[in-house]
Amino acid sequence: MAVGSSSSVEWQLTMVTGKALGGSTKINGLIYHRSVPGEYNAWQDAGRKNWSWQHVEPFFKKSEDSLSHGTSPSRGIEGPWQNQSVKEHFASVRTNVKIATEFGVPLLTEANDPGAPVVACTPLDATIDRENHRCSTDAAFLPRSLVSRRRNLNICTGTICTSLDIKDGNPLEVNGVFIEVESDVTQRYHVTATREVILCAGAVATPQILLFSGIGPERPLKEIGVKVFKDLPGVGARFQDHISVPIMFKALLDNSIEVLMGKPLTAVGQFLKYILNGKGILGQQVQQADVVLRSALLDDNTQLYSMEPGELDASKPSNIPDIEVMFLSVNATDQQFDGIAKSFGGFTYLCTVLRPQSYGSVQLTSSDPRQQPLWDIGTLTNEADRVPLQKAMKLALMLASNV
Ligand SMILES: Cc1cc2nc3c(=O)[nH]c(=O)nc-3n(C[C@H](O)[C@H](O)[C@H](O)COP(=O)(O)OP(=O)(O)OC[C@H]3O[C@@H](n4cnc5c(N)ncnc54)[C@H](O)[C@@H]3O)c2cc1C
Repeated sequence: MAVGSSSSVEWQLTMVTGKALGGSTKINGLIYHRSVPGEYNAWQDAGRKNWSWQHVEPFFKKSEDSLSHGTSPSRGIEGPWQNQSVKEHFASVRTNVKIATEFGVPLLTEANDPGAPVVACTPLDATIDRENHRCSTDAAFLPRSLVSRRRNLNICTGTICTSLDIKDGNPLEVNGVFIEVESDVTQRYHVTATREVILCAGAVATPQILLFSGIGPERPLKEIGVKVFKDLPGVGARFQDHISVPIMFKALLDNSIEVLMGKPLTAVGQFLKYILNGKGILGQQVQQADVVLRSALLDDNTQLYSMEPGELDASKPSNIPDIEVMFLSVNATDQQFDGIAKSFGGFTYLCTVLRPQSYGSVQLTSSDPRQQPLWDIGTLTNEADRVPLQKAMKLALMLASNV
């Protein structure tokens, strides 16, 4: 999907979303992280009743099967969504974890411990199941055994939802949805709802379907010939994503994922290792550990201010971390470098702004539902995001200078 940016720099990126049962959990980075309790407490404080950590924690527990931290009172072991903390880490990841802790960042063994300090260096949990396969949401919540048992469940693959069927012009009520066979525009169907319609097509397609349904900003919709049922300028206007800037260093080929490309015999060995016991490079997630922080705790020289216990309390909305540096033993930039995957491999610090203030948008370019929308990610359009990004990058460079 092509996207632009409303910042002063004109550029386009190719973005991906998962187009399958399980959506983007079929292609994502596997990280299983529930965030800190303060995040949910902030929602409750903002008026979202029953969304505090106390309210959501039982649902997290109910939905998961934590293979590595099942004895923790805050983790579940009876749910369908399996996750685990893969123990085998690349040496470069272990080195960076050591440096971060020497720098004063507490080392945690469990990233999803709600009582842990908010400033932490942690090995990451991943949605990898007992057989060391990706545990996508369809594998967890829609297994074949359940689908074949449920008589009232129909899954229509190869179709797209084009719009909601608005009832009598009242956008607060729908009769159902219109769907089309993706490969054949002439096969159009109406699905009637007897109770309710839940629209959950991801961060881009959800507003796109609302806009096609005539719920959105009146003028631009009229301009492309969409009949407007509700003038709602906010639809598609508050797109947010966390920006990550990769900083890549050379690493020993044997100490990076690139060894699979550079040494065919090693690749065969790793393949057999994975097939026989689920272990090795192919059984690990790419982002293996991270450092999370509140950027306000870093001074201009990338030193940590001394922290009071209250500043580390994960239940407080004021303590939610705003930067993350992830450790990846691979070249995670979109550039190729001479000699990479031949004589050397890559190690990347992925410097991430966790709480961006910038907004982008999703807009229709035509009334044809098969046309991709104009997706403006709005990266760094709010200057407030630049300071945390710079601090995350400086932190990465500081860690690198100590390797
Ligand atoms: C490259 C990448 C890496 C990521 N890494 C991580 C990670 O490590 N950890 C993490 O927690 N999150 C990660 N994420 C984010 C995470 O995967 C998403 O937040 C999550 O999948 C969103 O779920 P969703 O159901 O809202 O949307 P999606 O997963 O995008 O699912 C939307 C579904 O709707 C379908 N759909 C779209 N349009 C239509 C239509 N018109 N009609 C019918 N169906 C439609 C799509 O085919 C898809 O199945 C990553 C995302 C990406 C893209």
